[in-house]
Amino acid sequence: MLATSTPRTAIVTGAARGIGAATAKRLAADGHRVAVLDLDAASCAETVAAITDAGGQAIGVGVDVADADQVAAAVAQVAEALGGPTILVNNAGITRDNLIFKMTEQDWDSVIGVHLRGSFLMSRAVQAYMTQEKFGRIVNLSSTSAQGNRGQVNYSAAKAGLQGFTKTLAIELGKFGVTANAVAPGFIQTDMTRATAERLGVSFEDFIAFSAKEIPVQRVGQPEDIAATISFLTSDEAGFISGQVIYVAGGPMD
Ligand code: NAP
Repeated sequence: MLATSTPRTAIVTGAARGIGAATAKRLAADGHRVAVLDLDAASCAETVAAITDAGGQAIGVGVDVADADQVAAAVAQVAEALGGPTILVNNAGITRDNLIFKMTEQDWDSVIGVHLRGSFLMSRAVQAYMTQEKFGRIVNLSSTSAQGNRGQVNYSAAKAGLQGFTKTLAIELGKFGVTANAVAPGFIQTDMTRATAERLGVSFEDFIAFSAKEIPVQRVGQPEDIAATISFLTSDEAGFISGQVIYVAGGPMD
């Protein structure tokens, strides 16, 4: 599918690696100016270099998306350097997996903080530019874990919460030309799933092979599978799709 897009300023959080890095590169290839946000500004350099080497425009910005002051400063910095942002991909994420009887309050708070508070703070800051421009595209990263996953009460609660957050953003911001959608990946081959394999005590290769057998298309996903979906959802022509949860998991989800 060829997505058509007017060049805009896009922000991708957690874009130093994994799905965020692939999405930042894809949005740059679509013609957008891309702000690569991650915890540490230095860690953004690789993604920024990949974009600029390919002829695109990008900056790296260090920010903890769960910190309101840092978010306000980062979004202002992006607007100053690249113009007001009208595409936002809330991708930054962490896992702190454990069965509930072993889960600490810190495990709970940090996961809810990055995914839910982070997406709220970023969306609140960026919607000011979107409503002014009468155009906006917000994509939030949910997960198949929203439907429940052993060892992830914190993460599945956050990812299910993001689905309600997305639908409400769609309702509130639709009249300003802003759409909000959630992409819910299944197994994607990144450092996050590598860490899950380590936690389970299996090699990443075996974990991938085992997981692929359970997926209807018989393979695990790659970051580019998610980036392609986000490319379409942020395009001009996706303006009538809003408040949806798109599962990108190699098979059907309820
Ligand atoms: P990843 O490889 O672990 O990358 C996540 C990035 O987010 C890292 O660069 C991380 O920085 C950054 N980050 C963490 N906390 C942050 C904060 N407070 N502020 C700013 N940046 C922060 O993860 P991924 O697999 O690409 O996942 C990306 C998103 O997709 C996440 O929301 C994840 O929950 C979701 N997802 C992934 C899968 C999957 O199978 N991989 C499936 C479903 C959903 P550091 O490196 O410094 O920690």
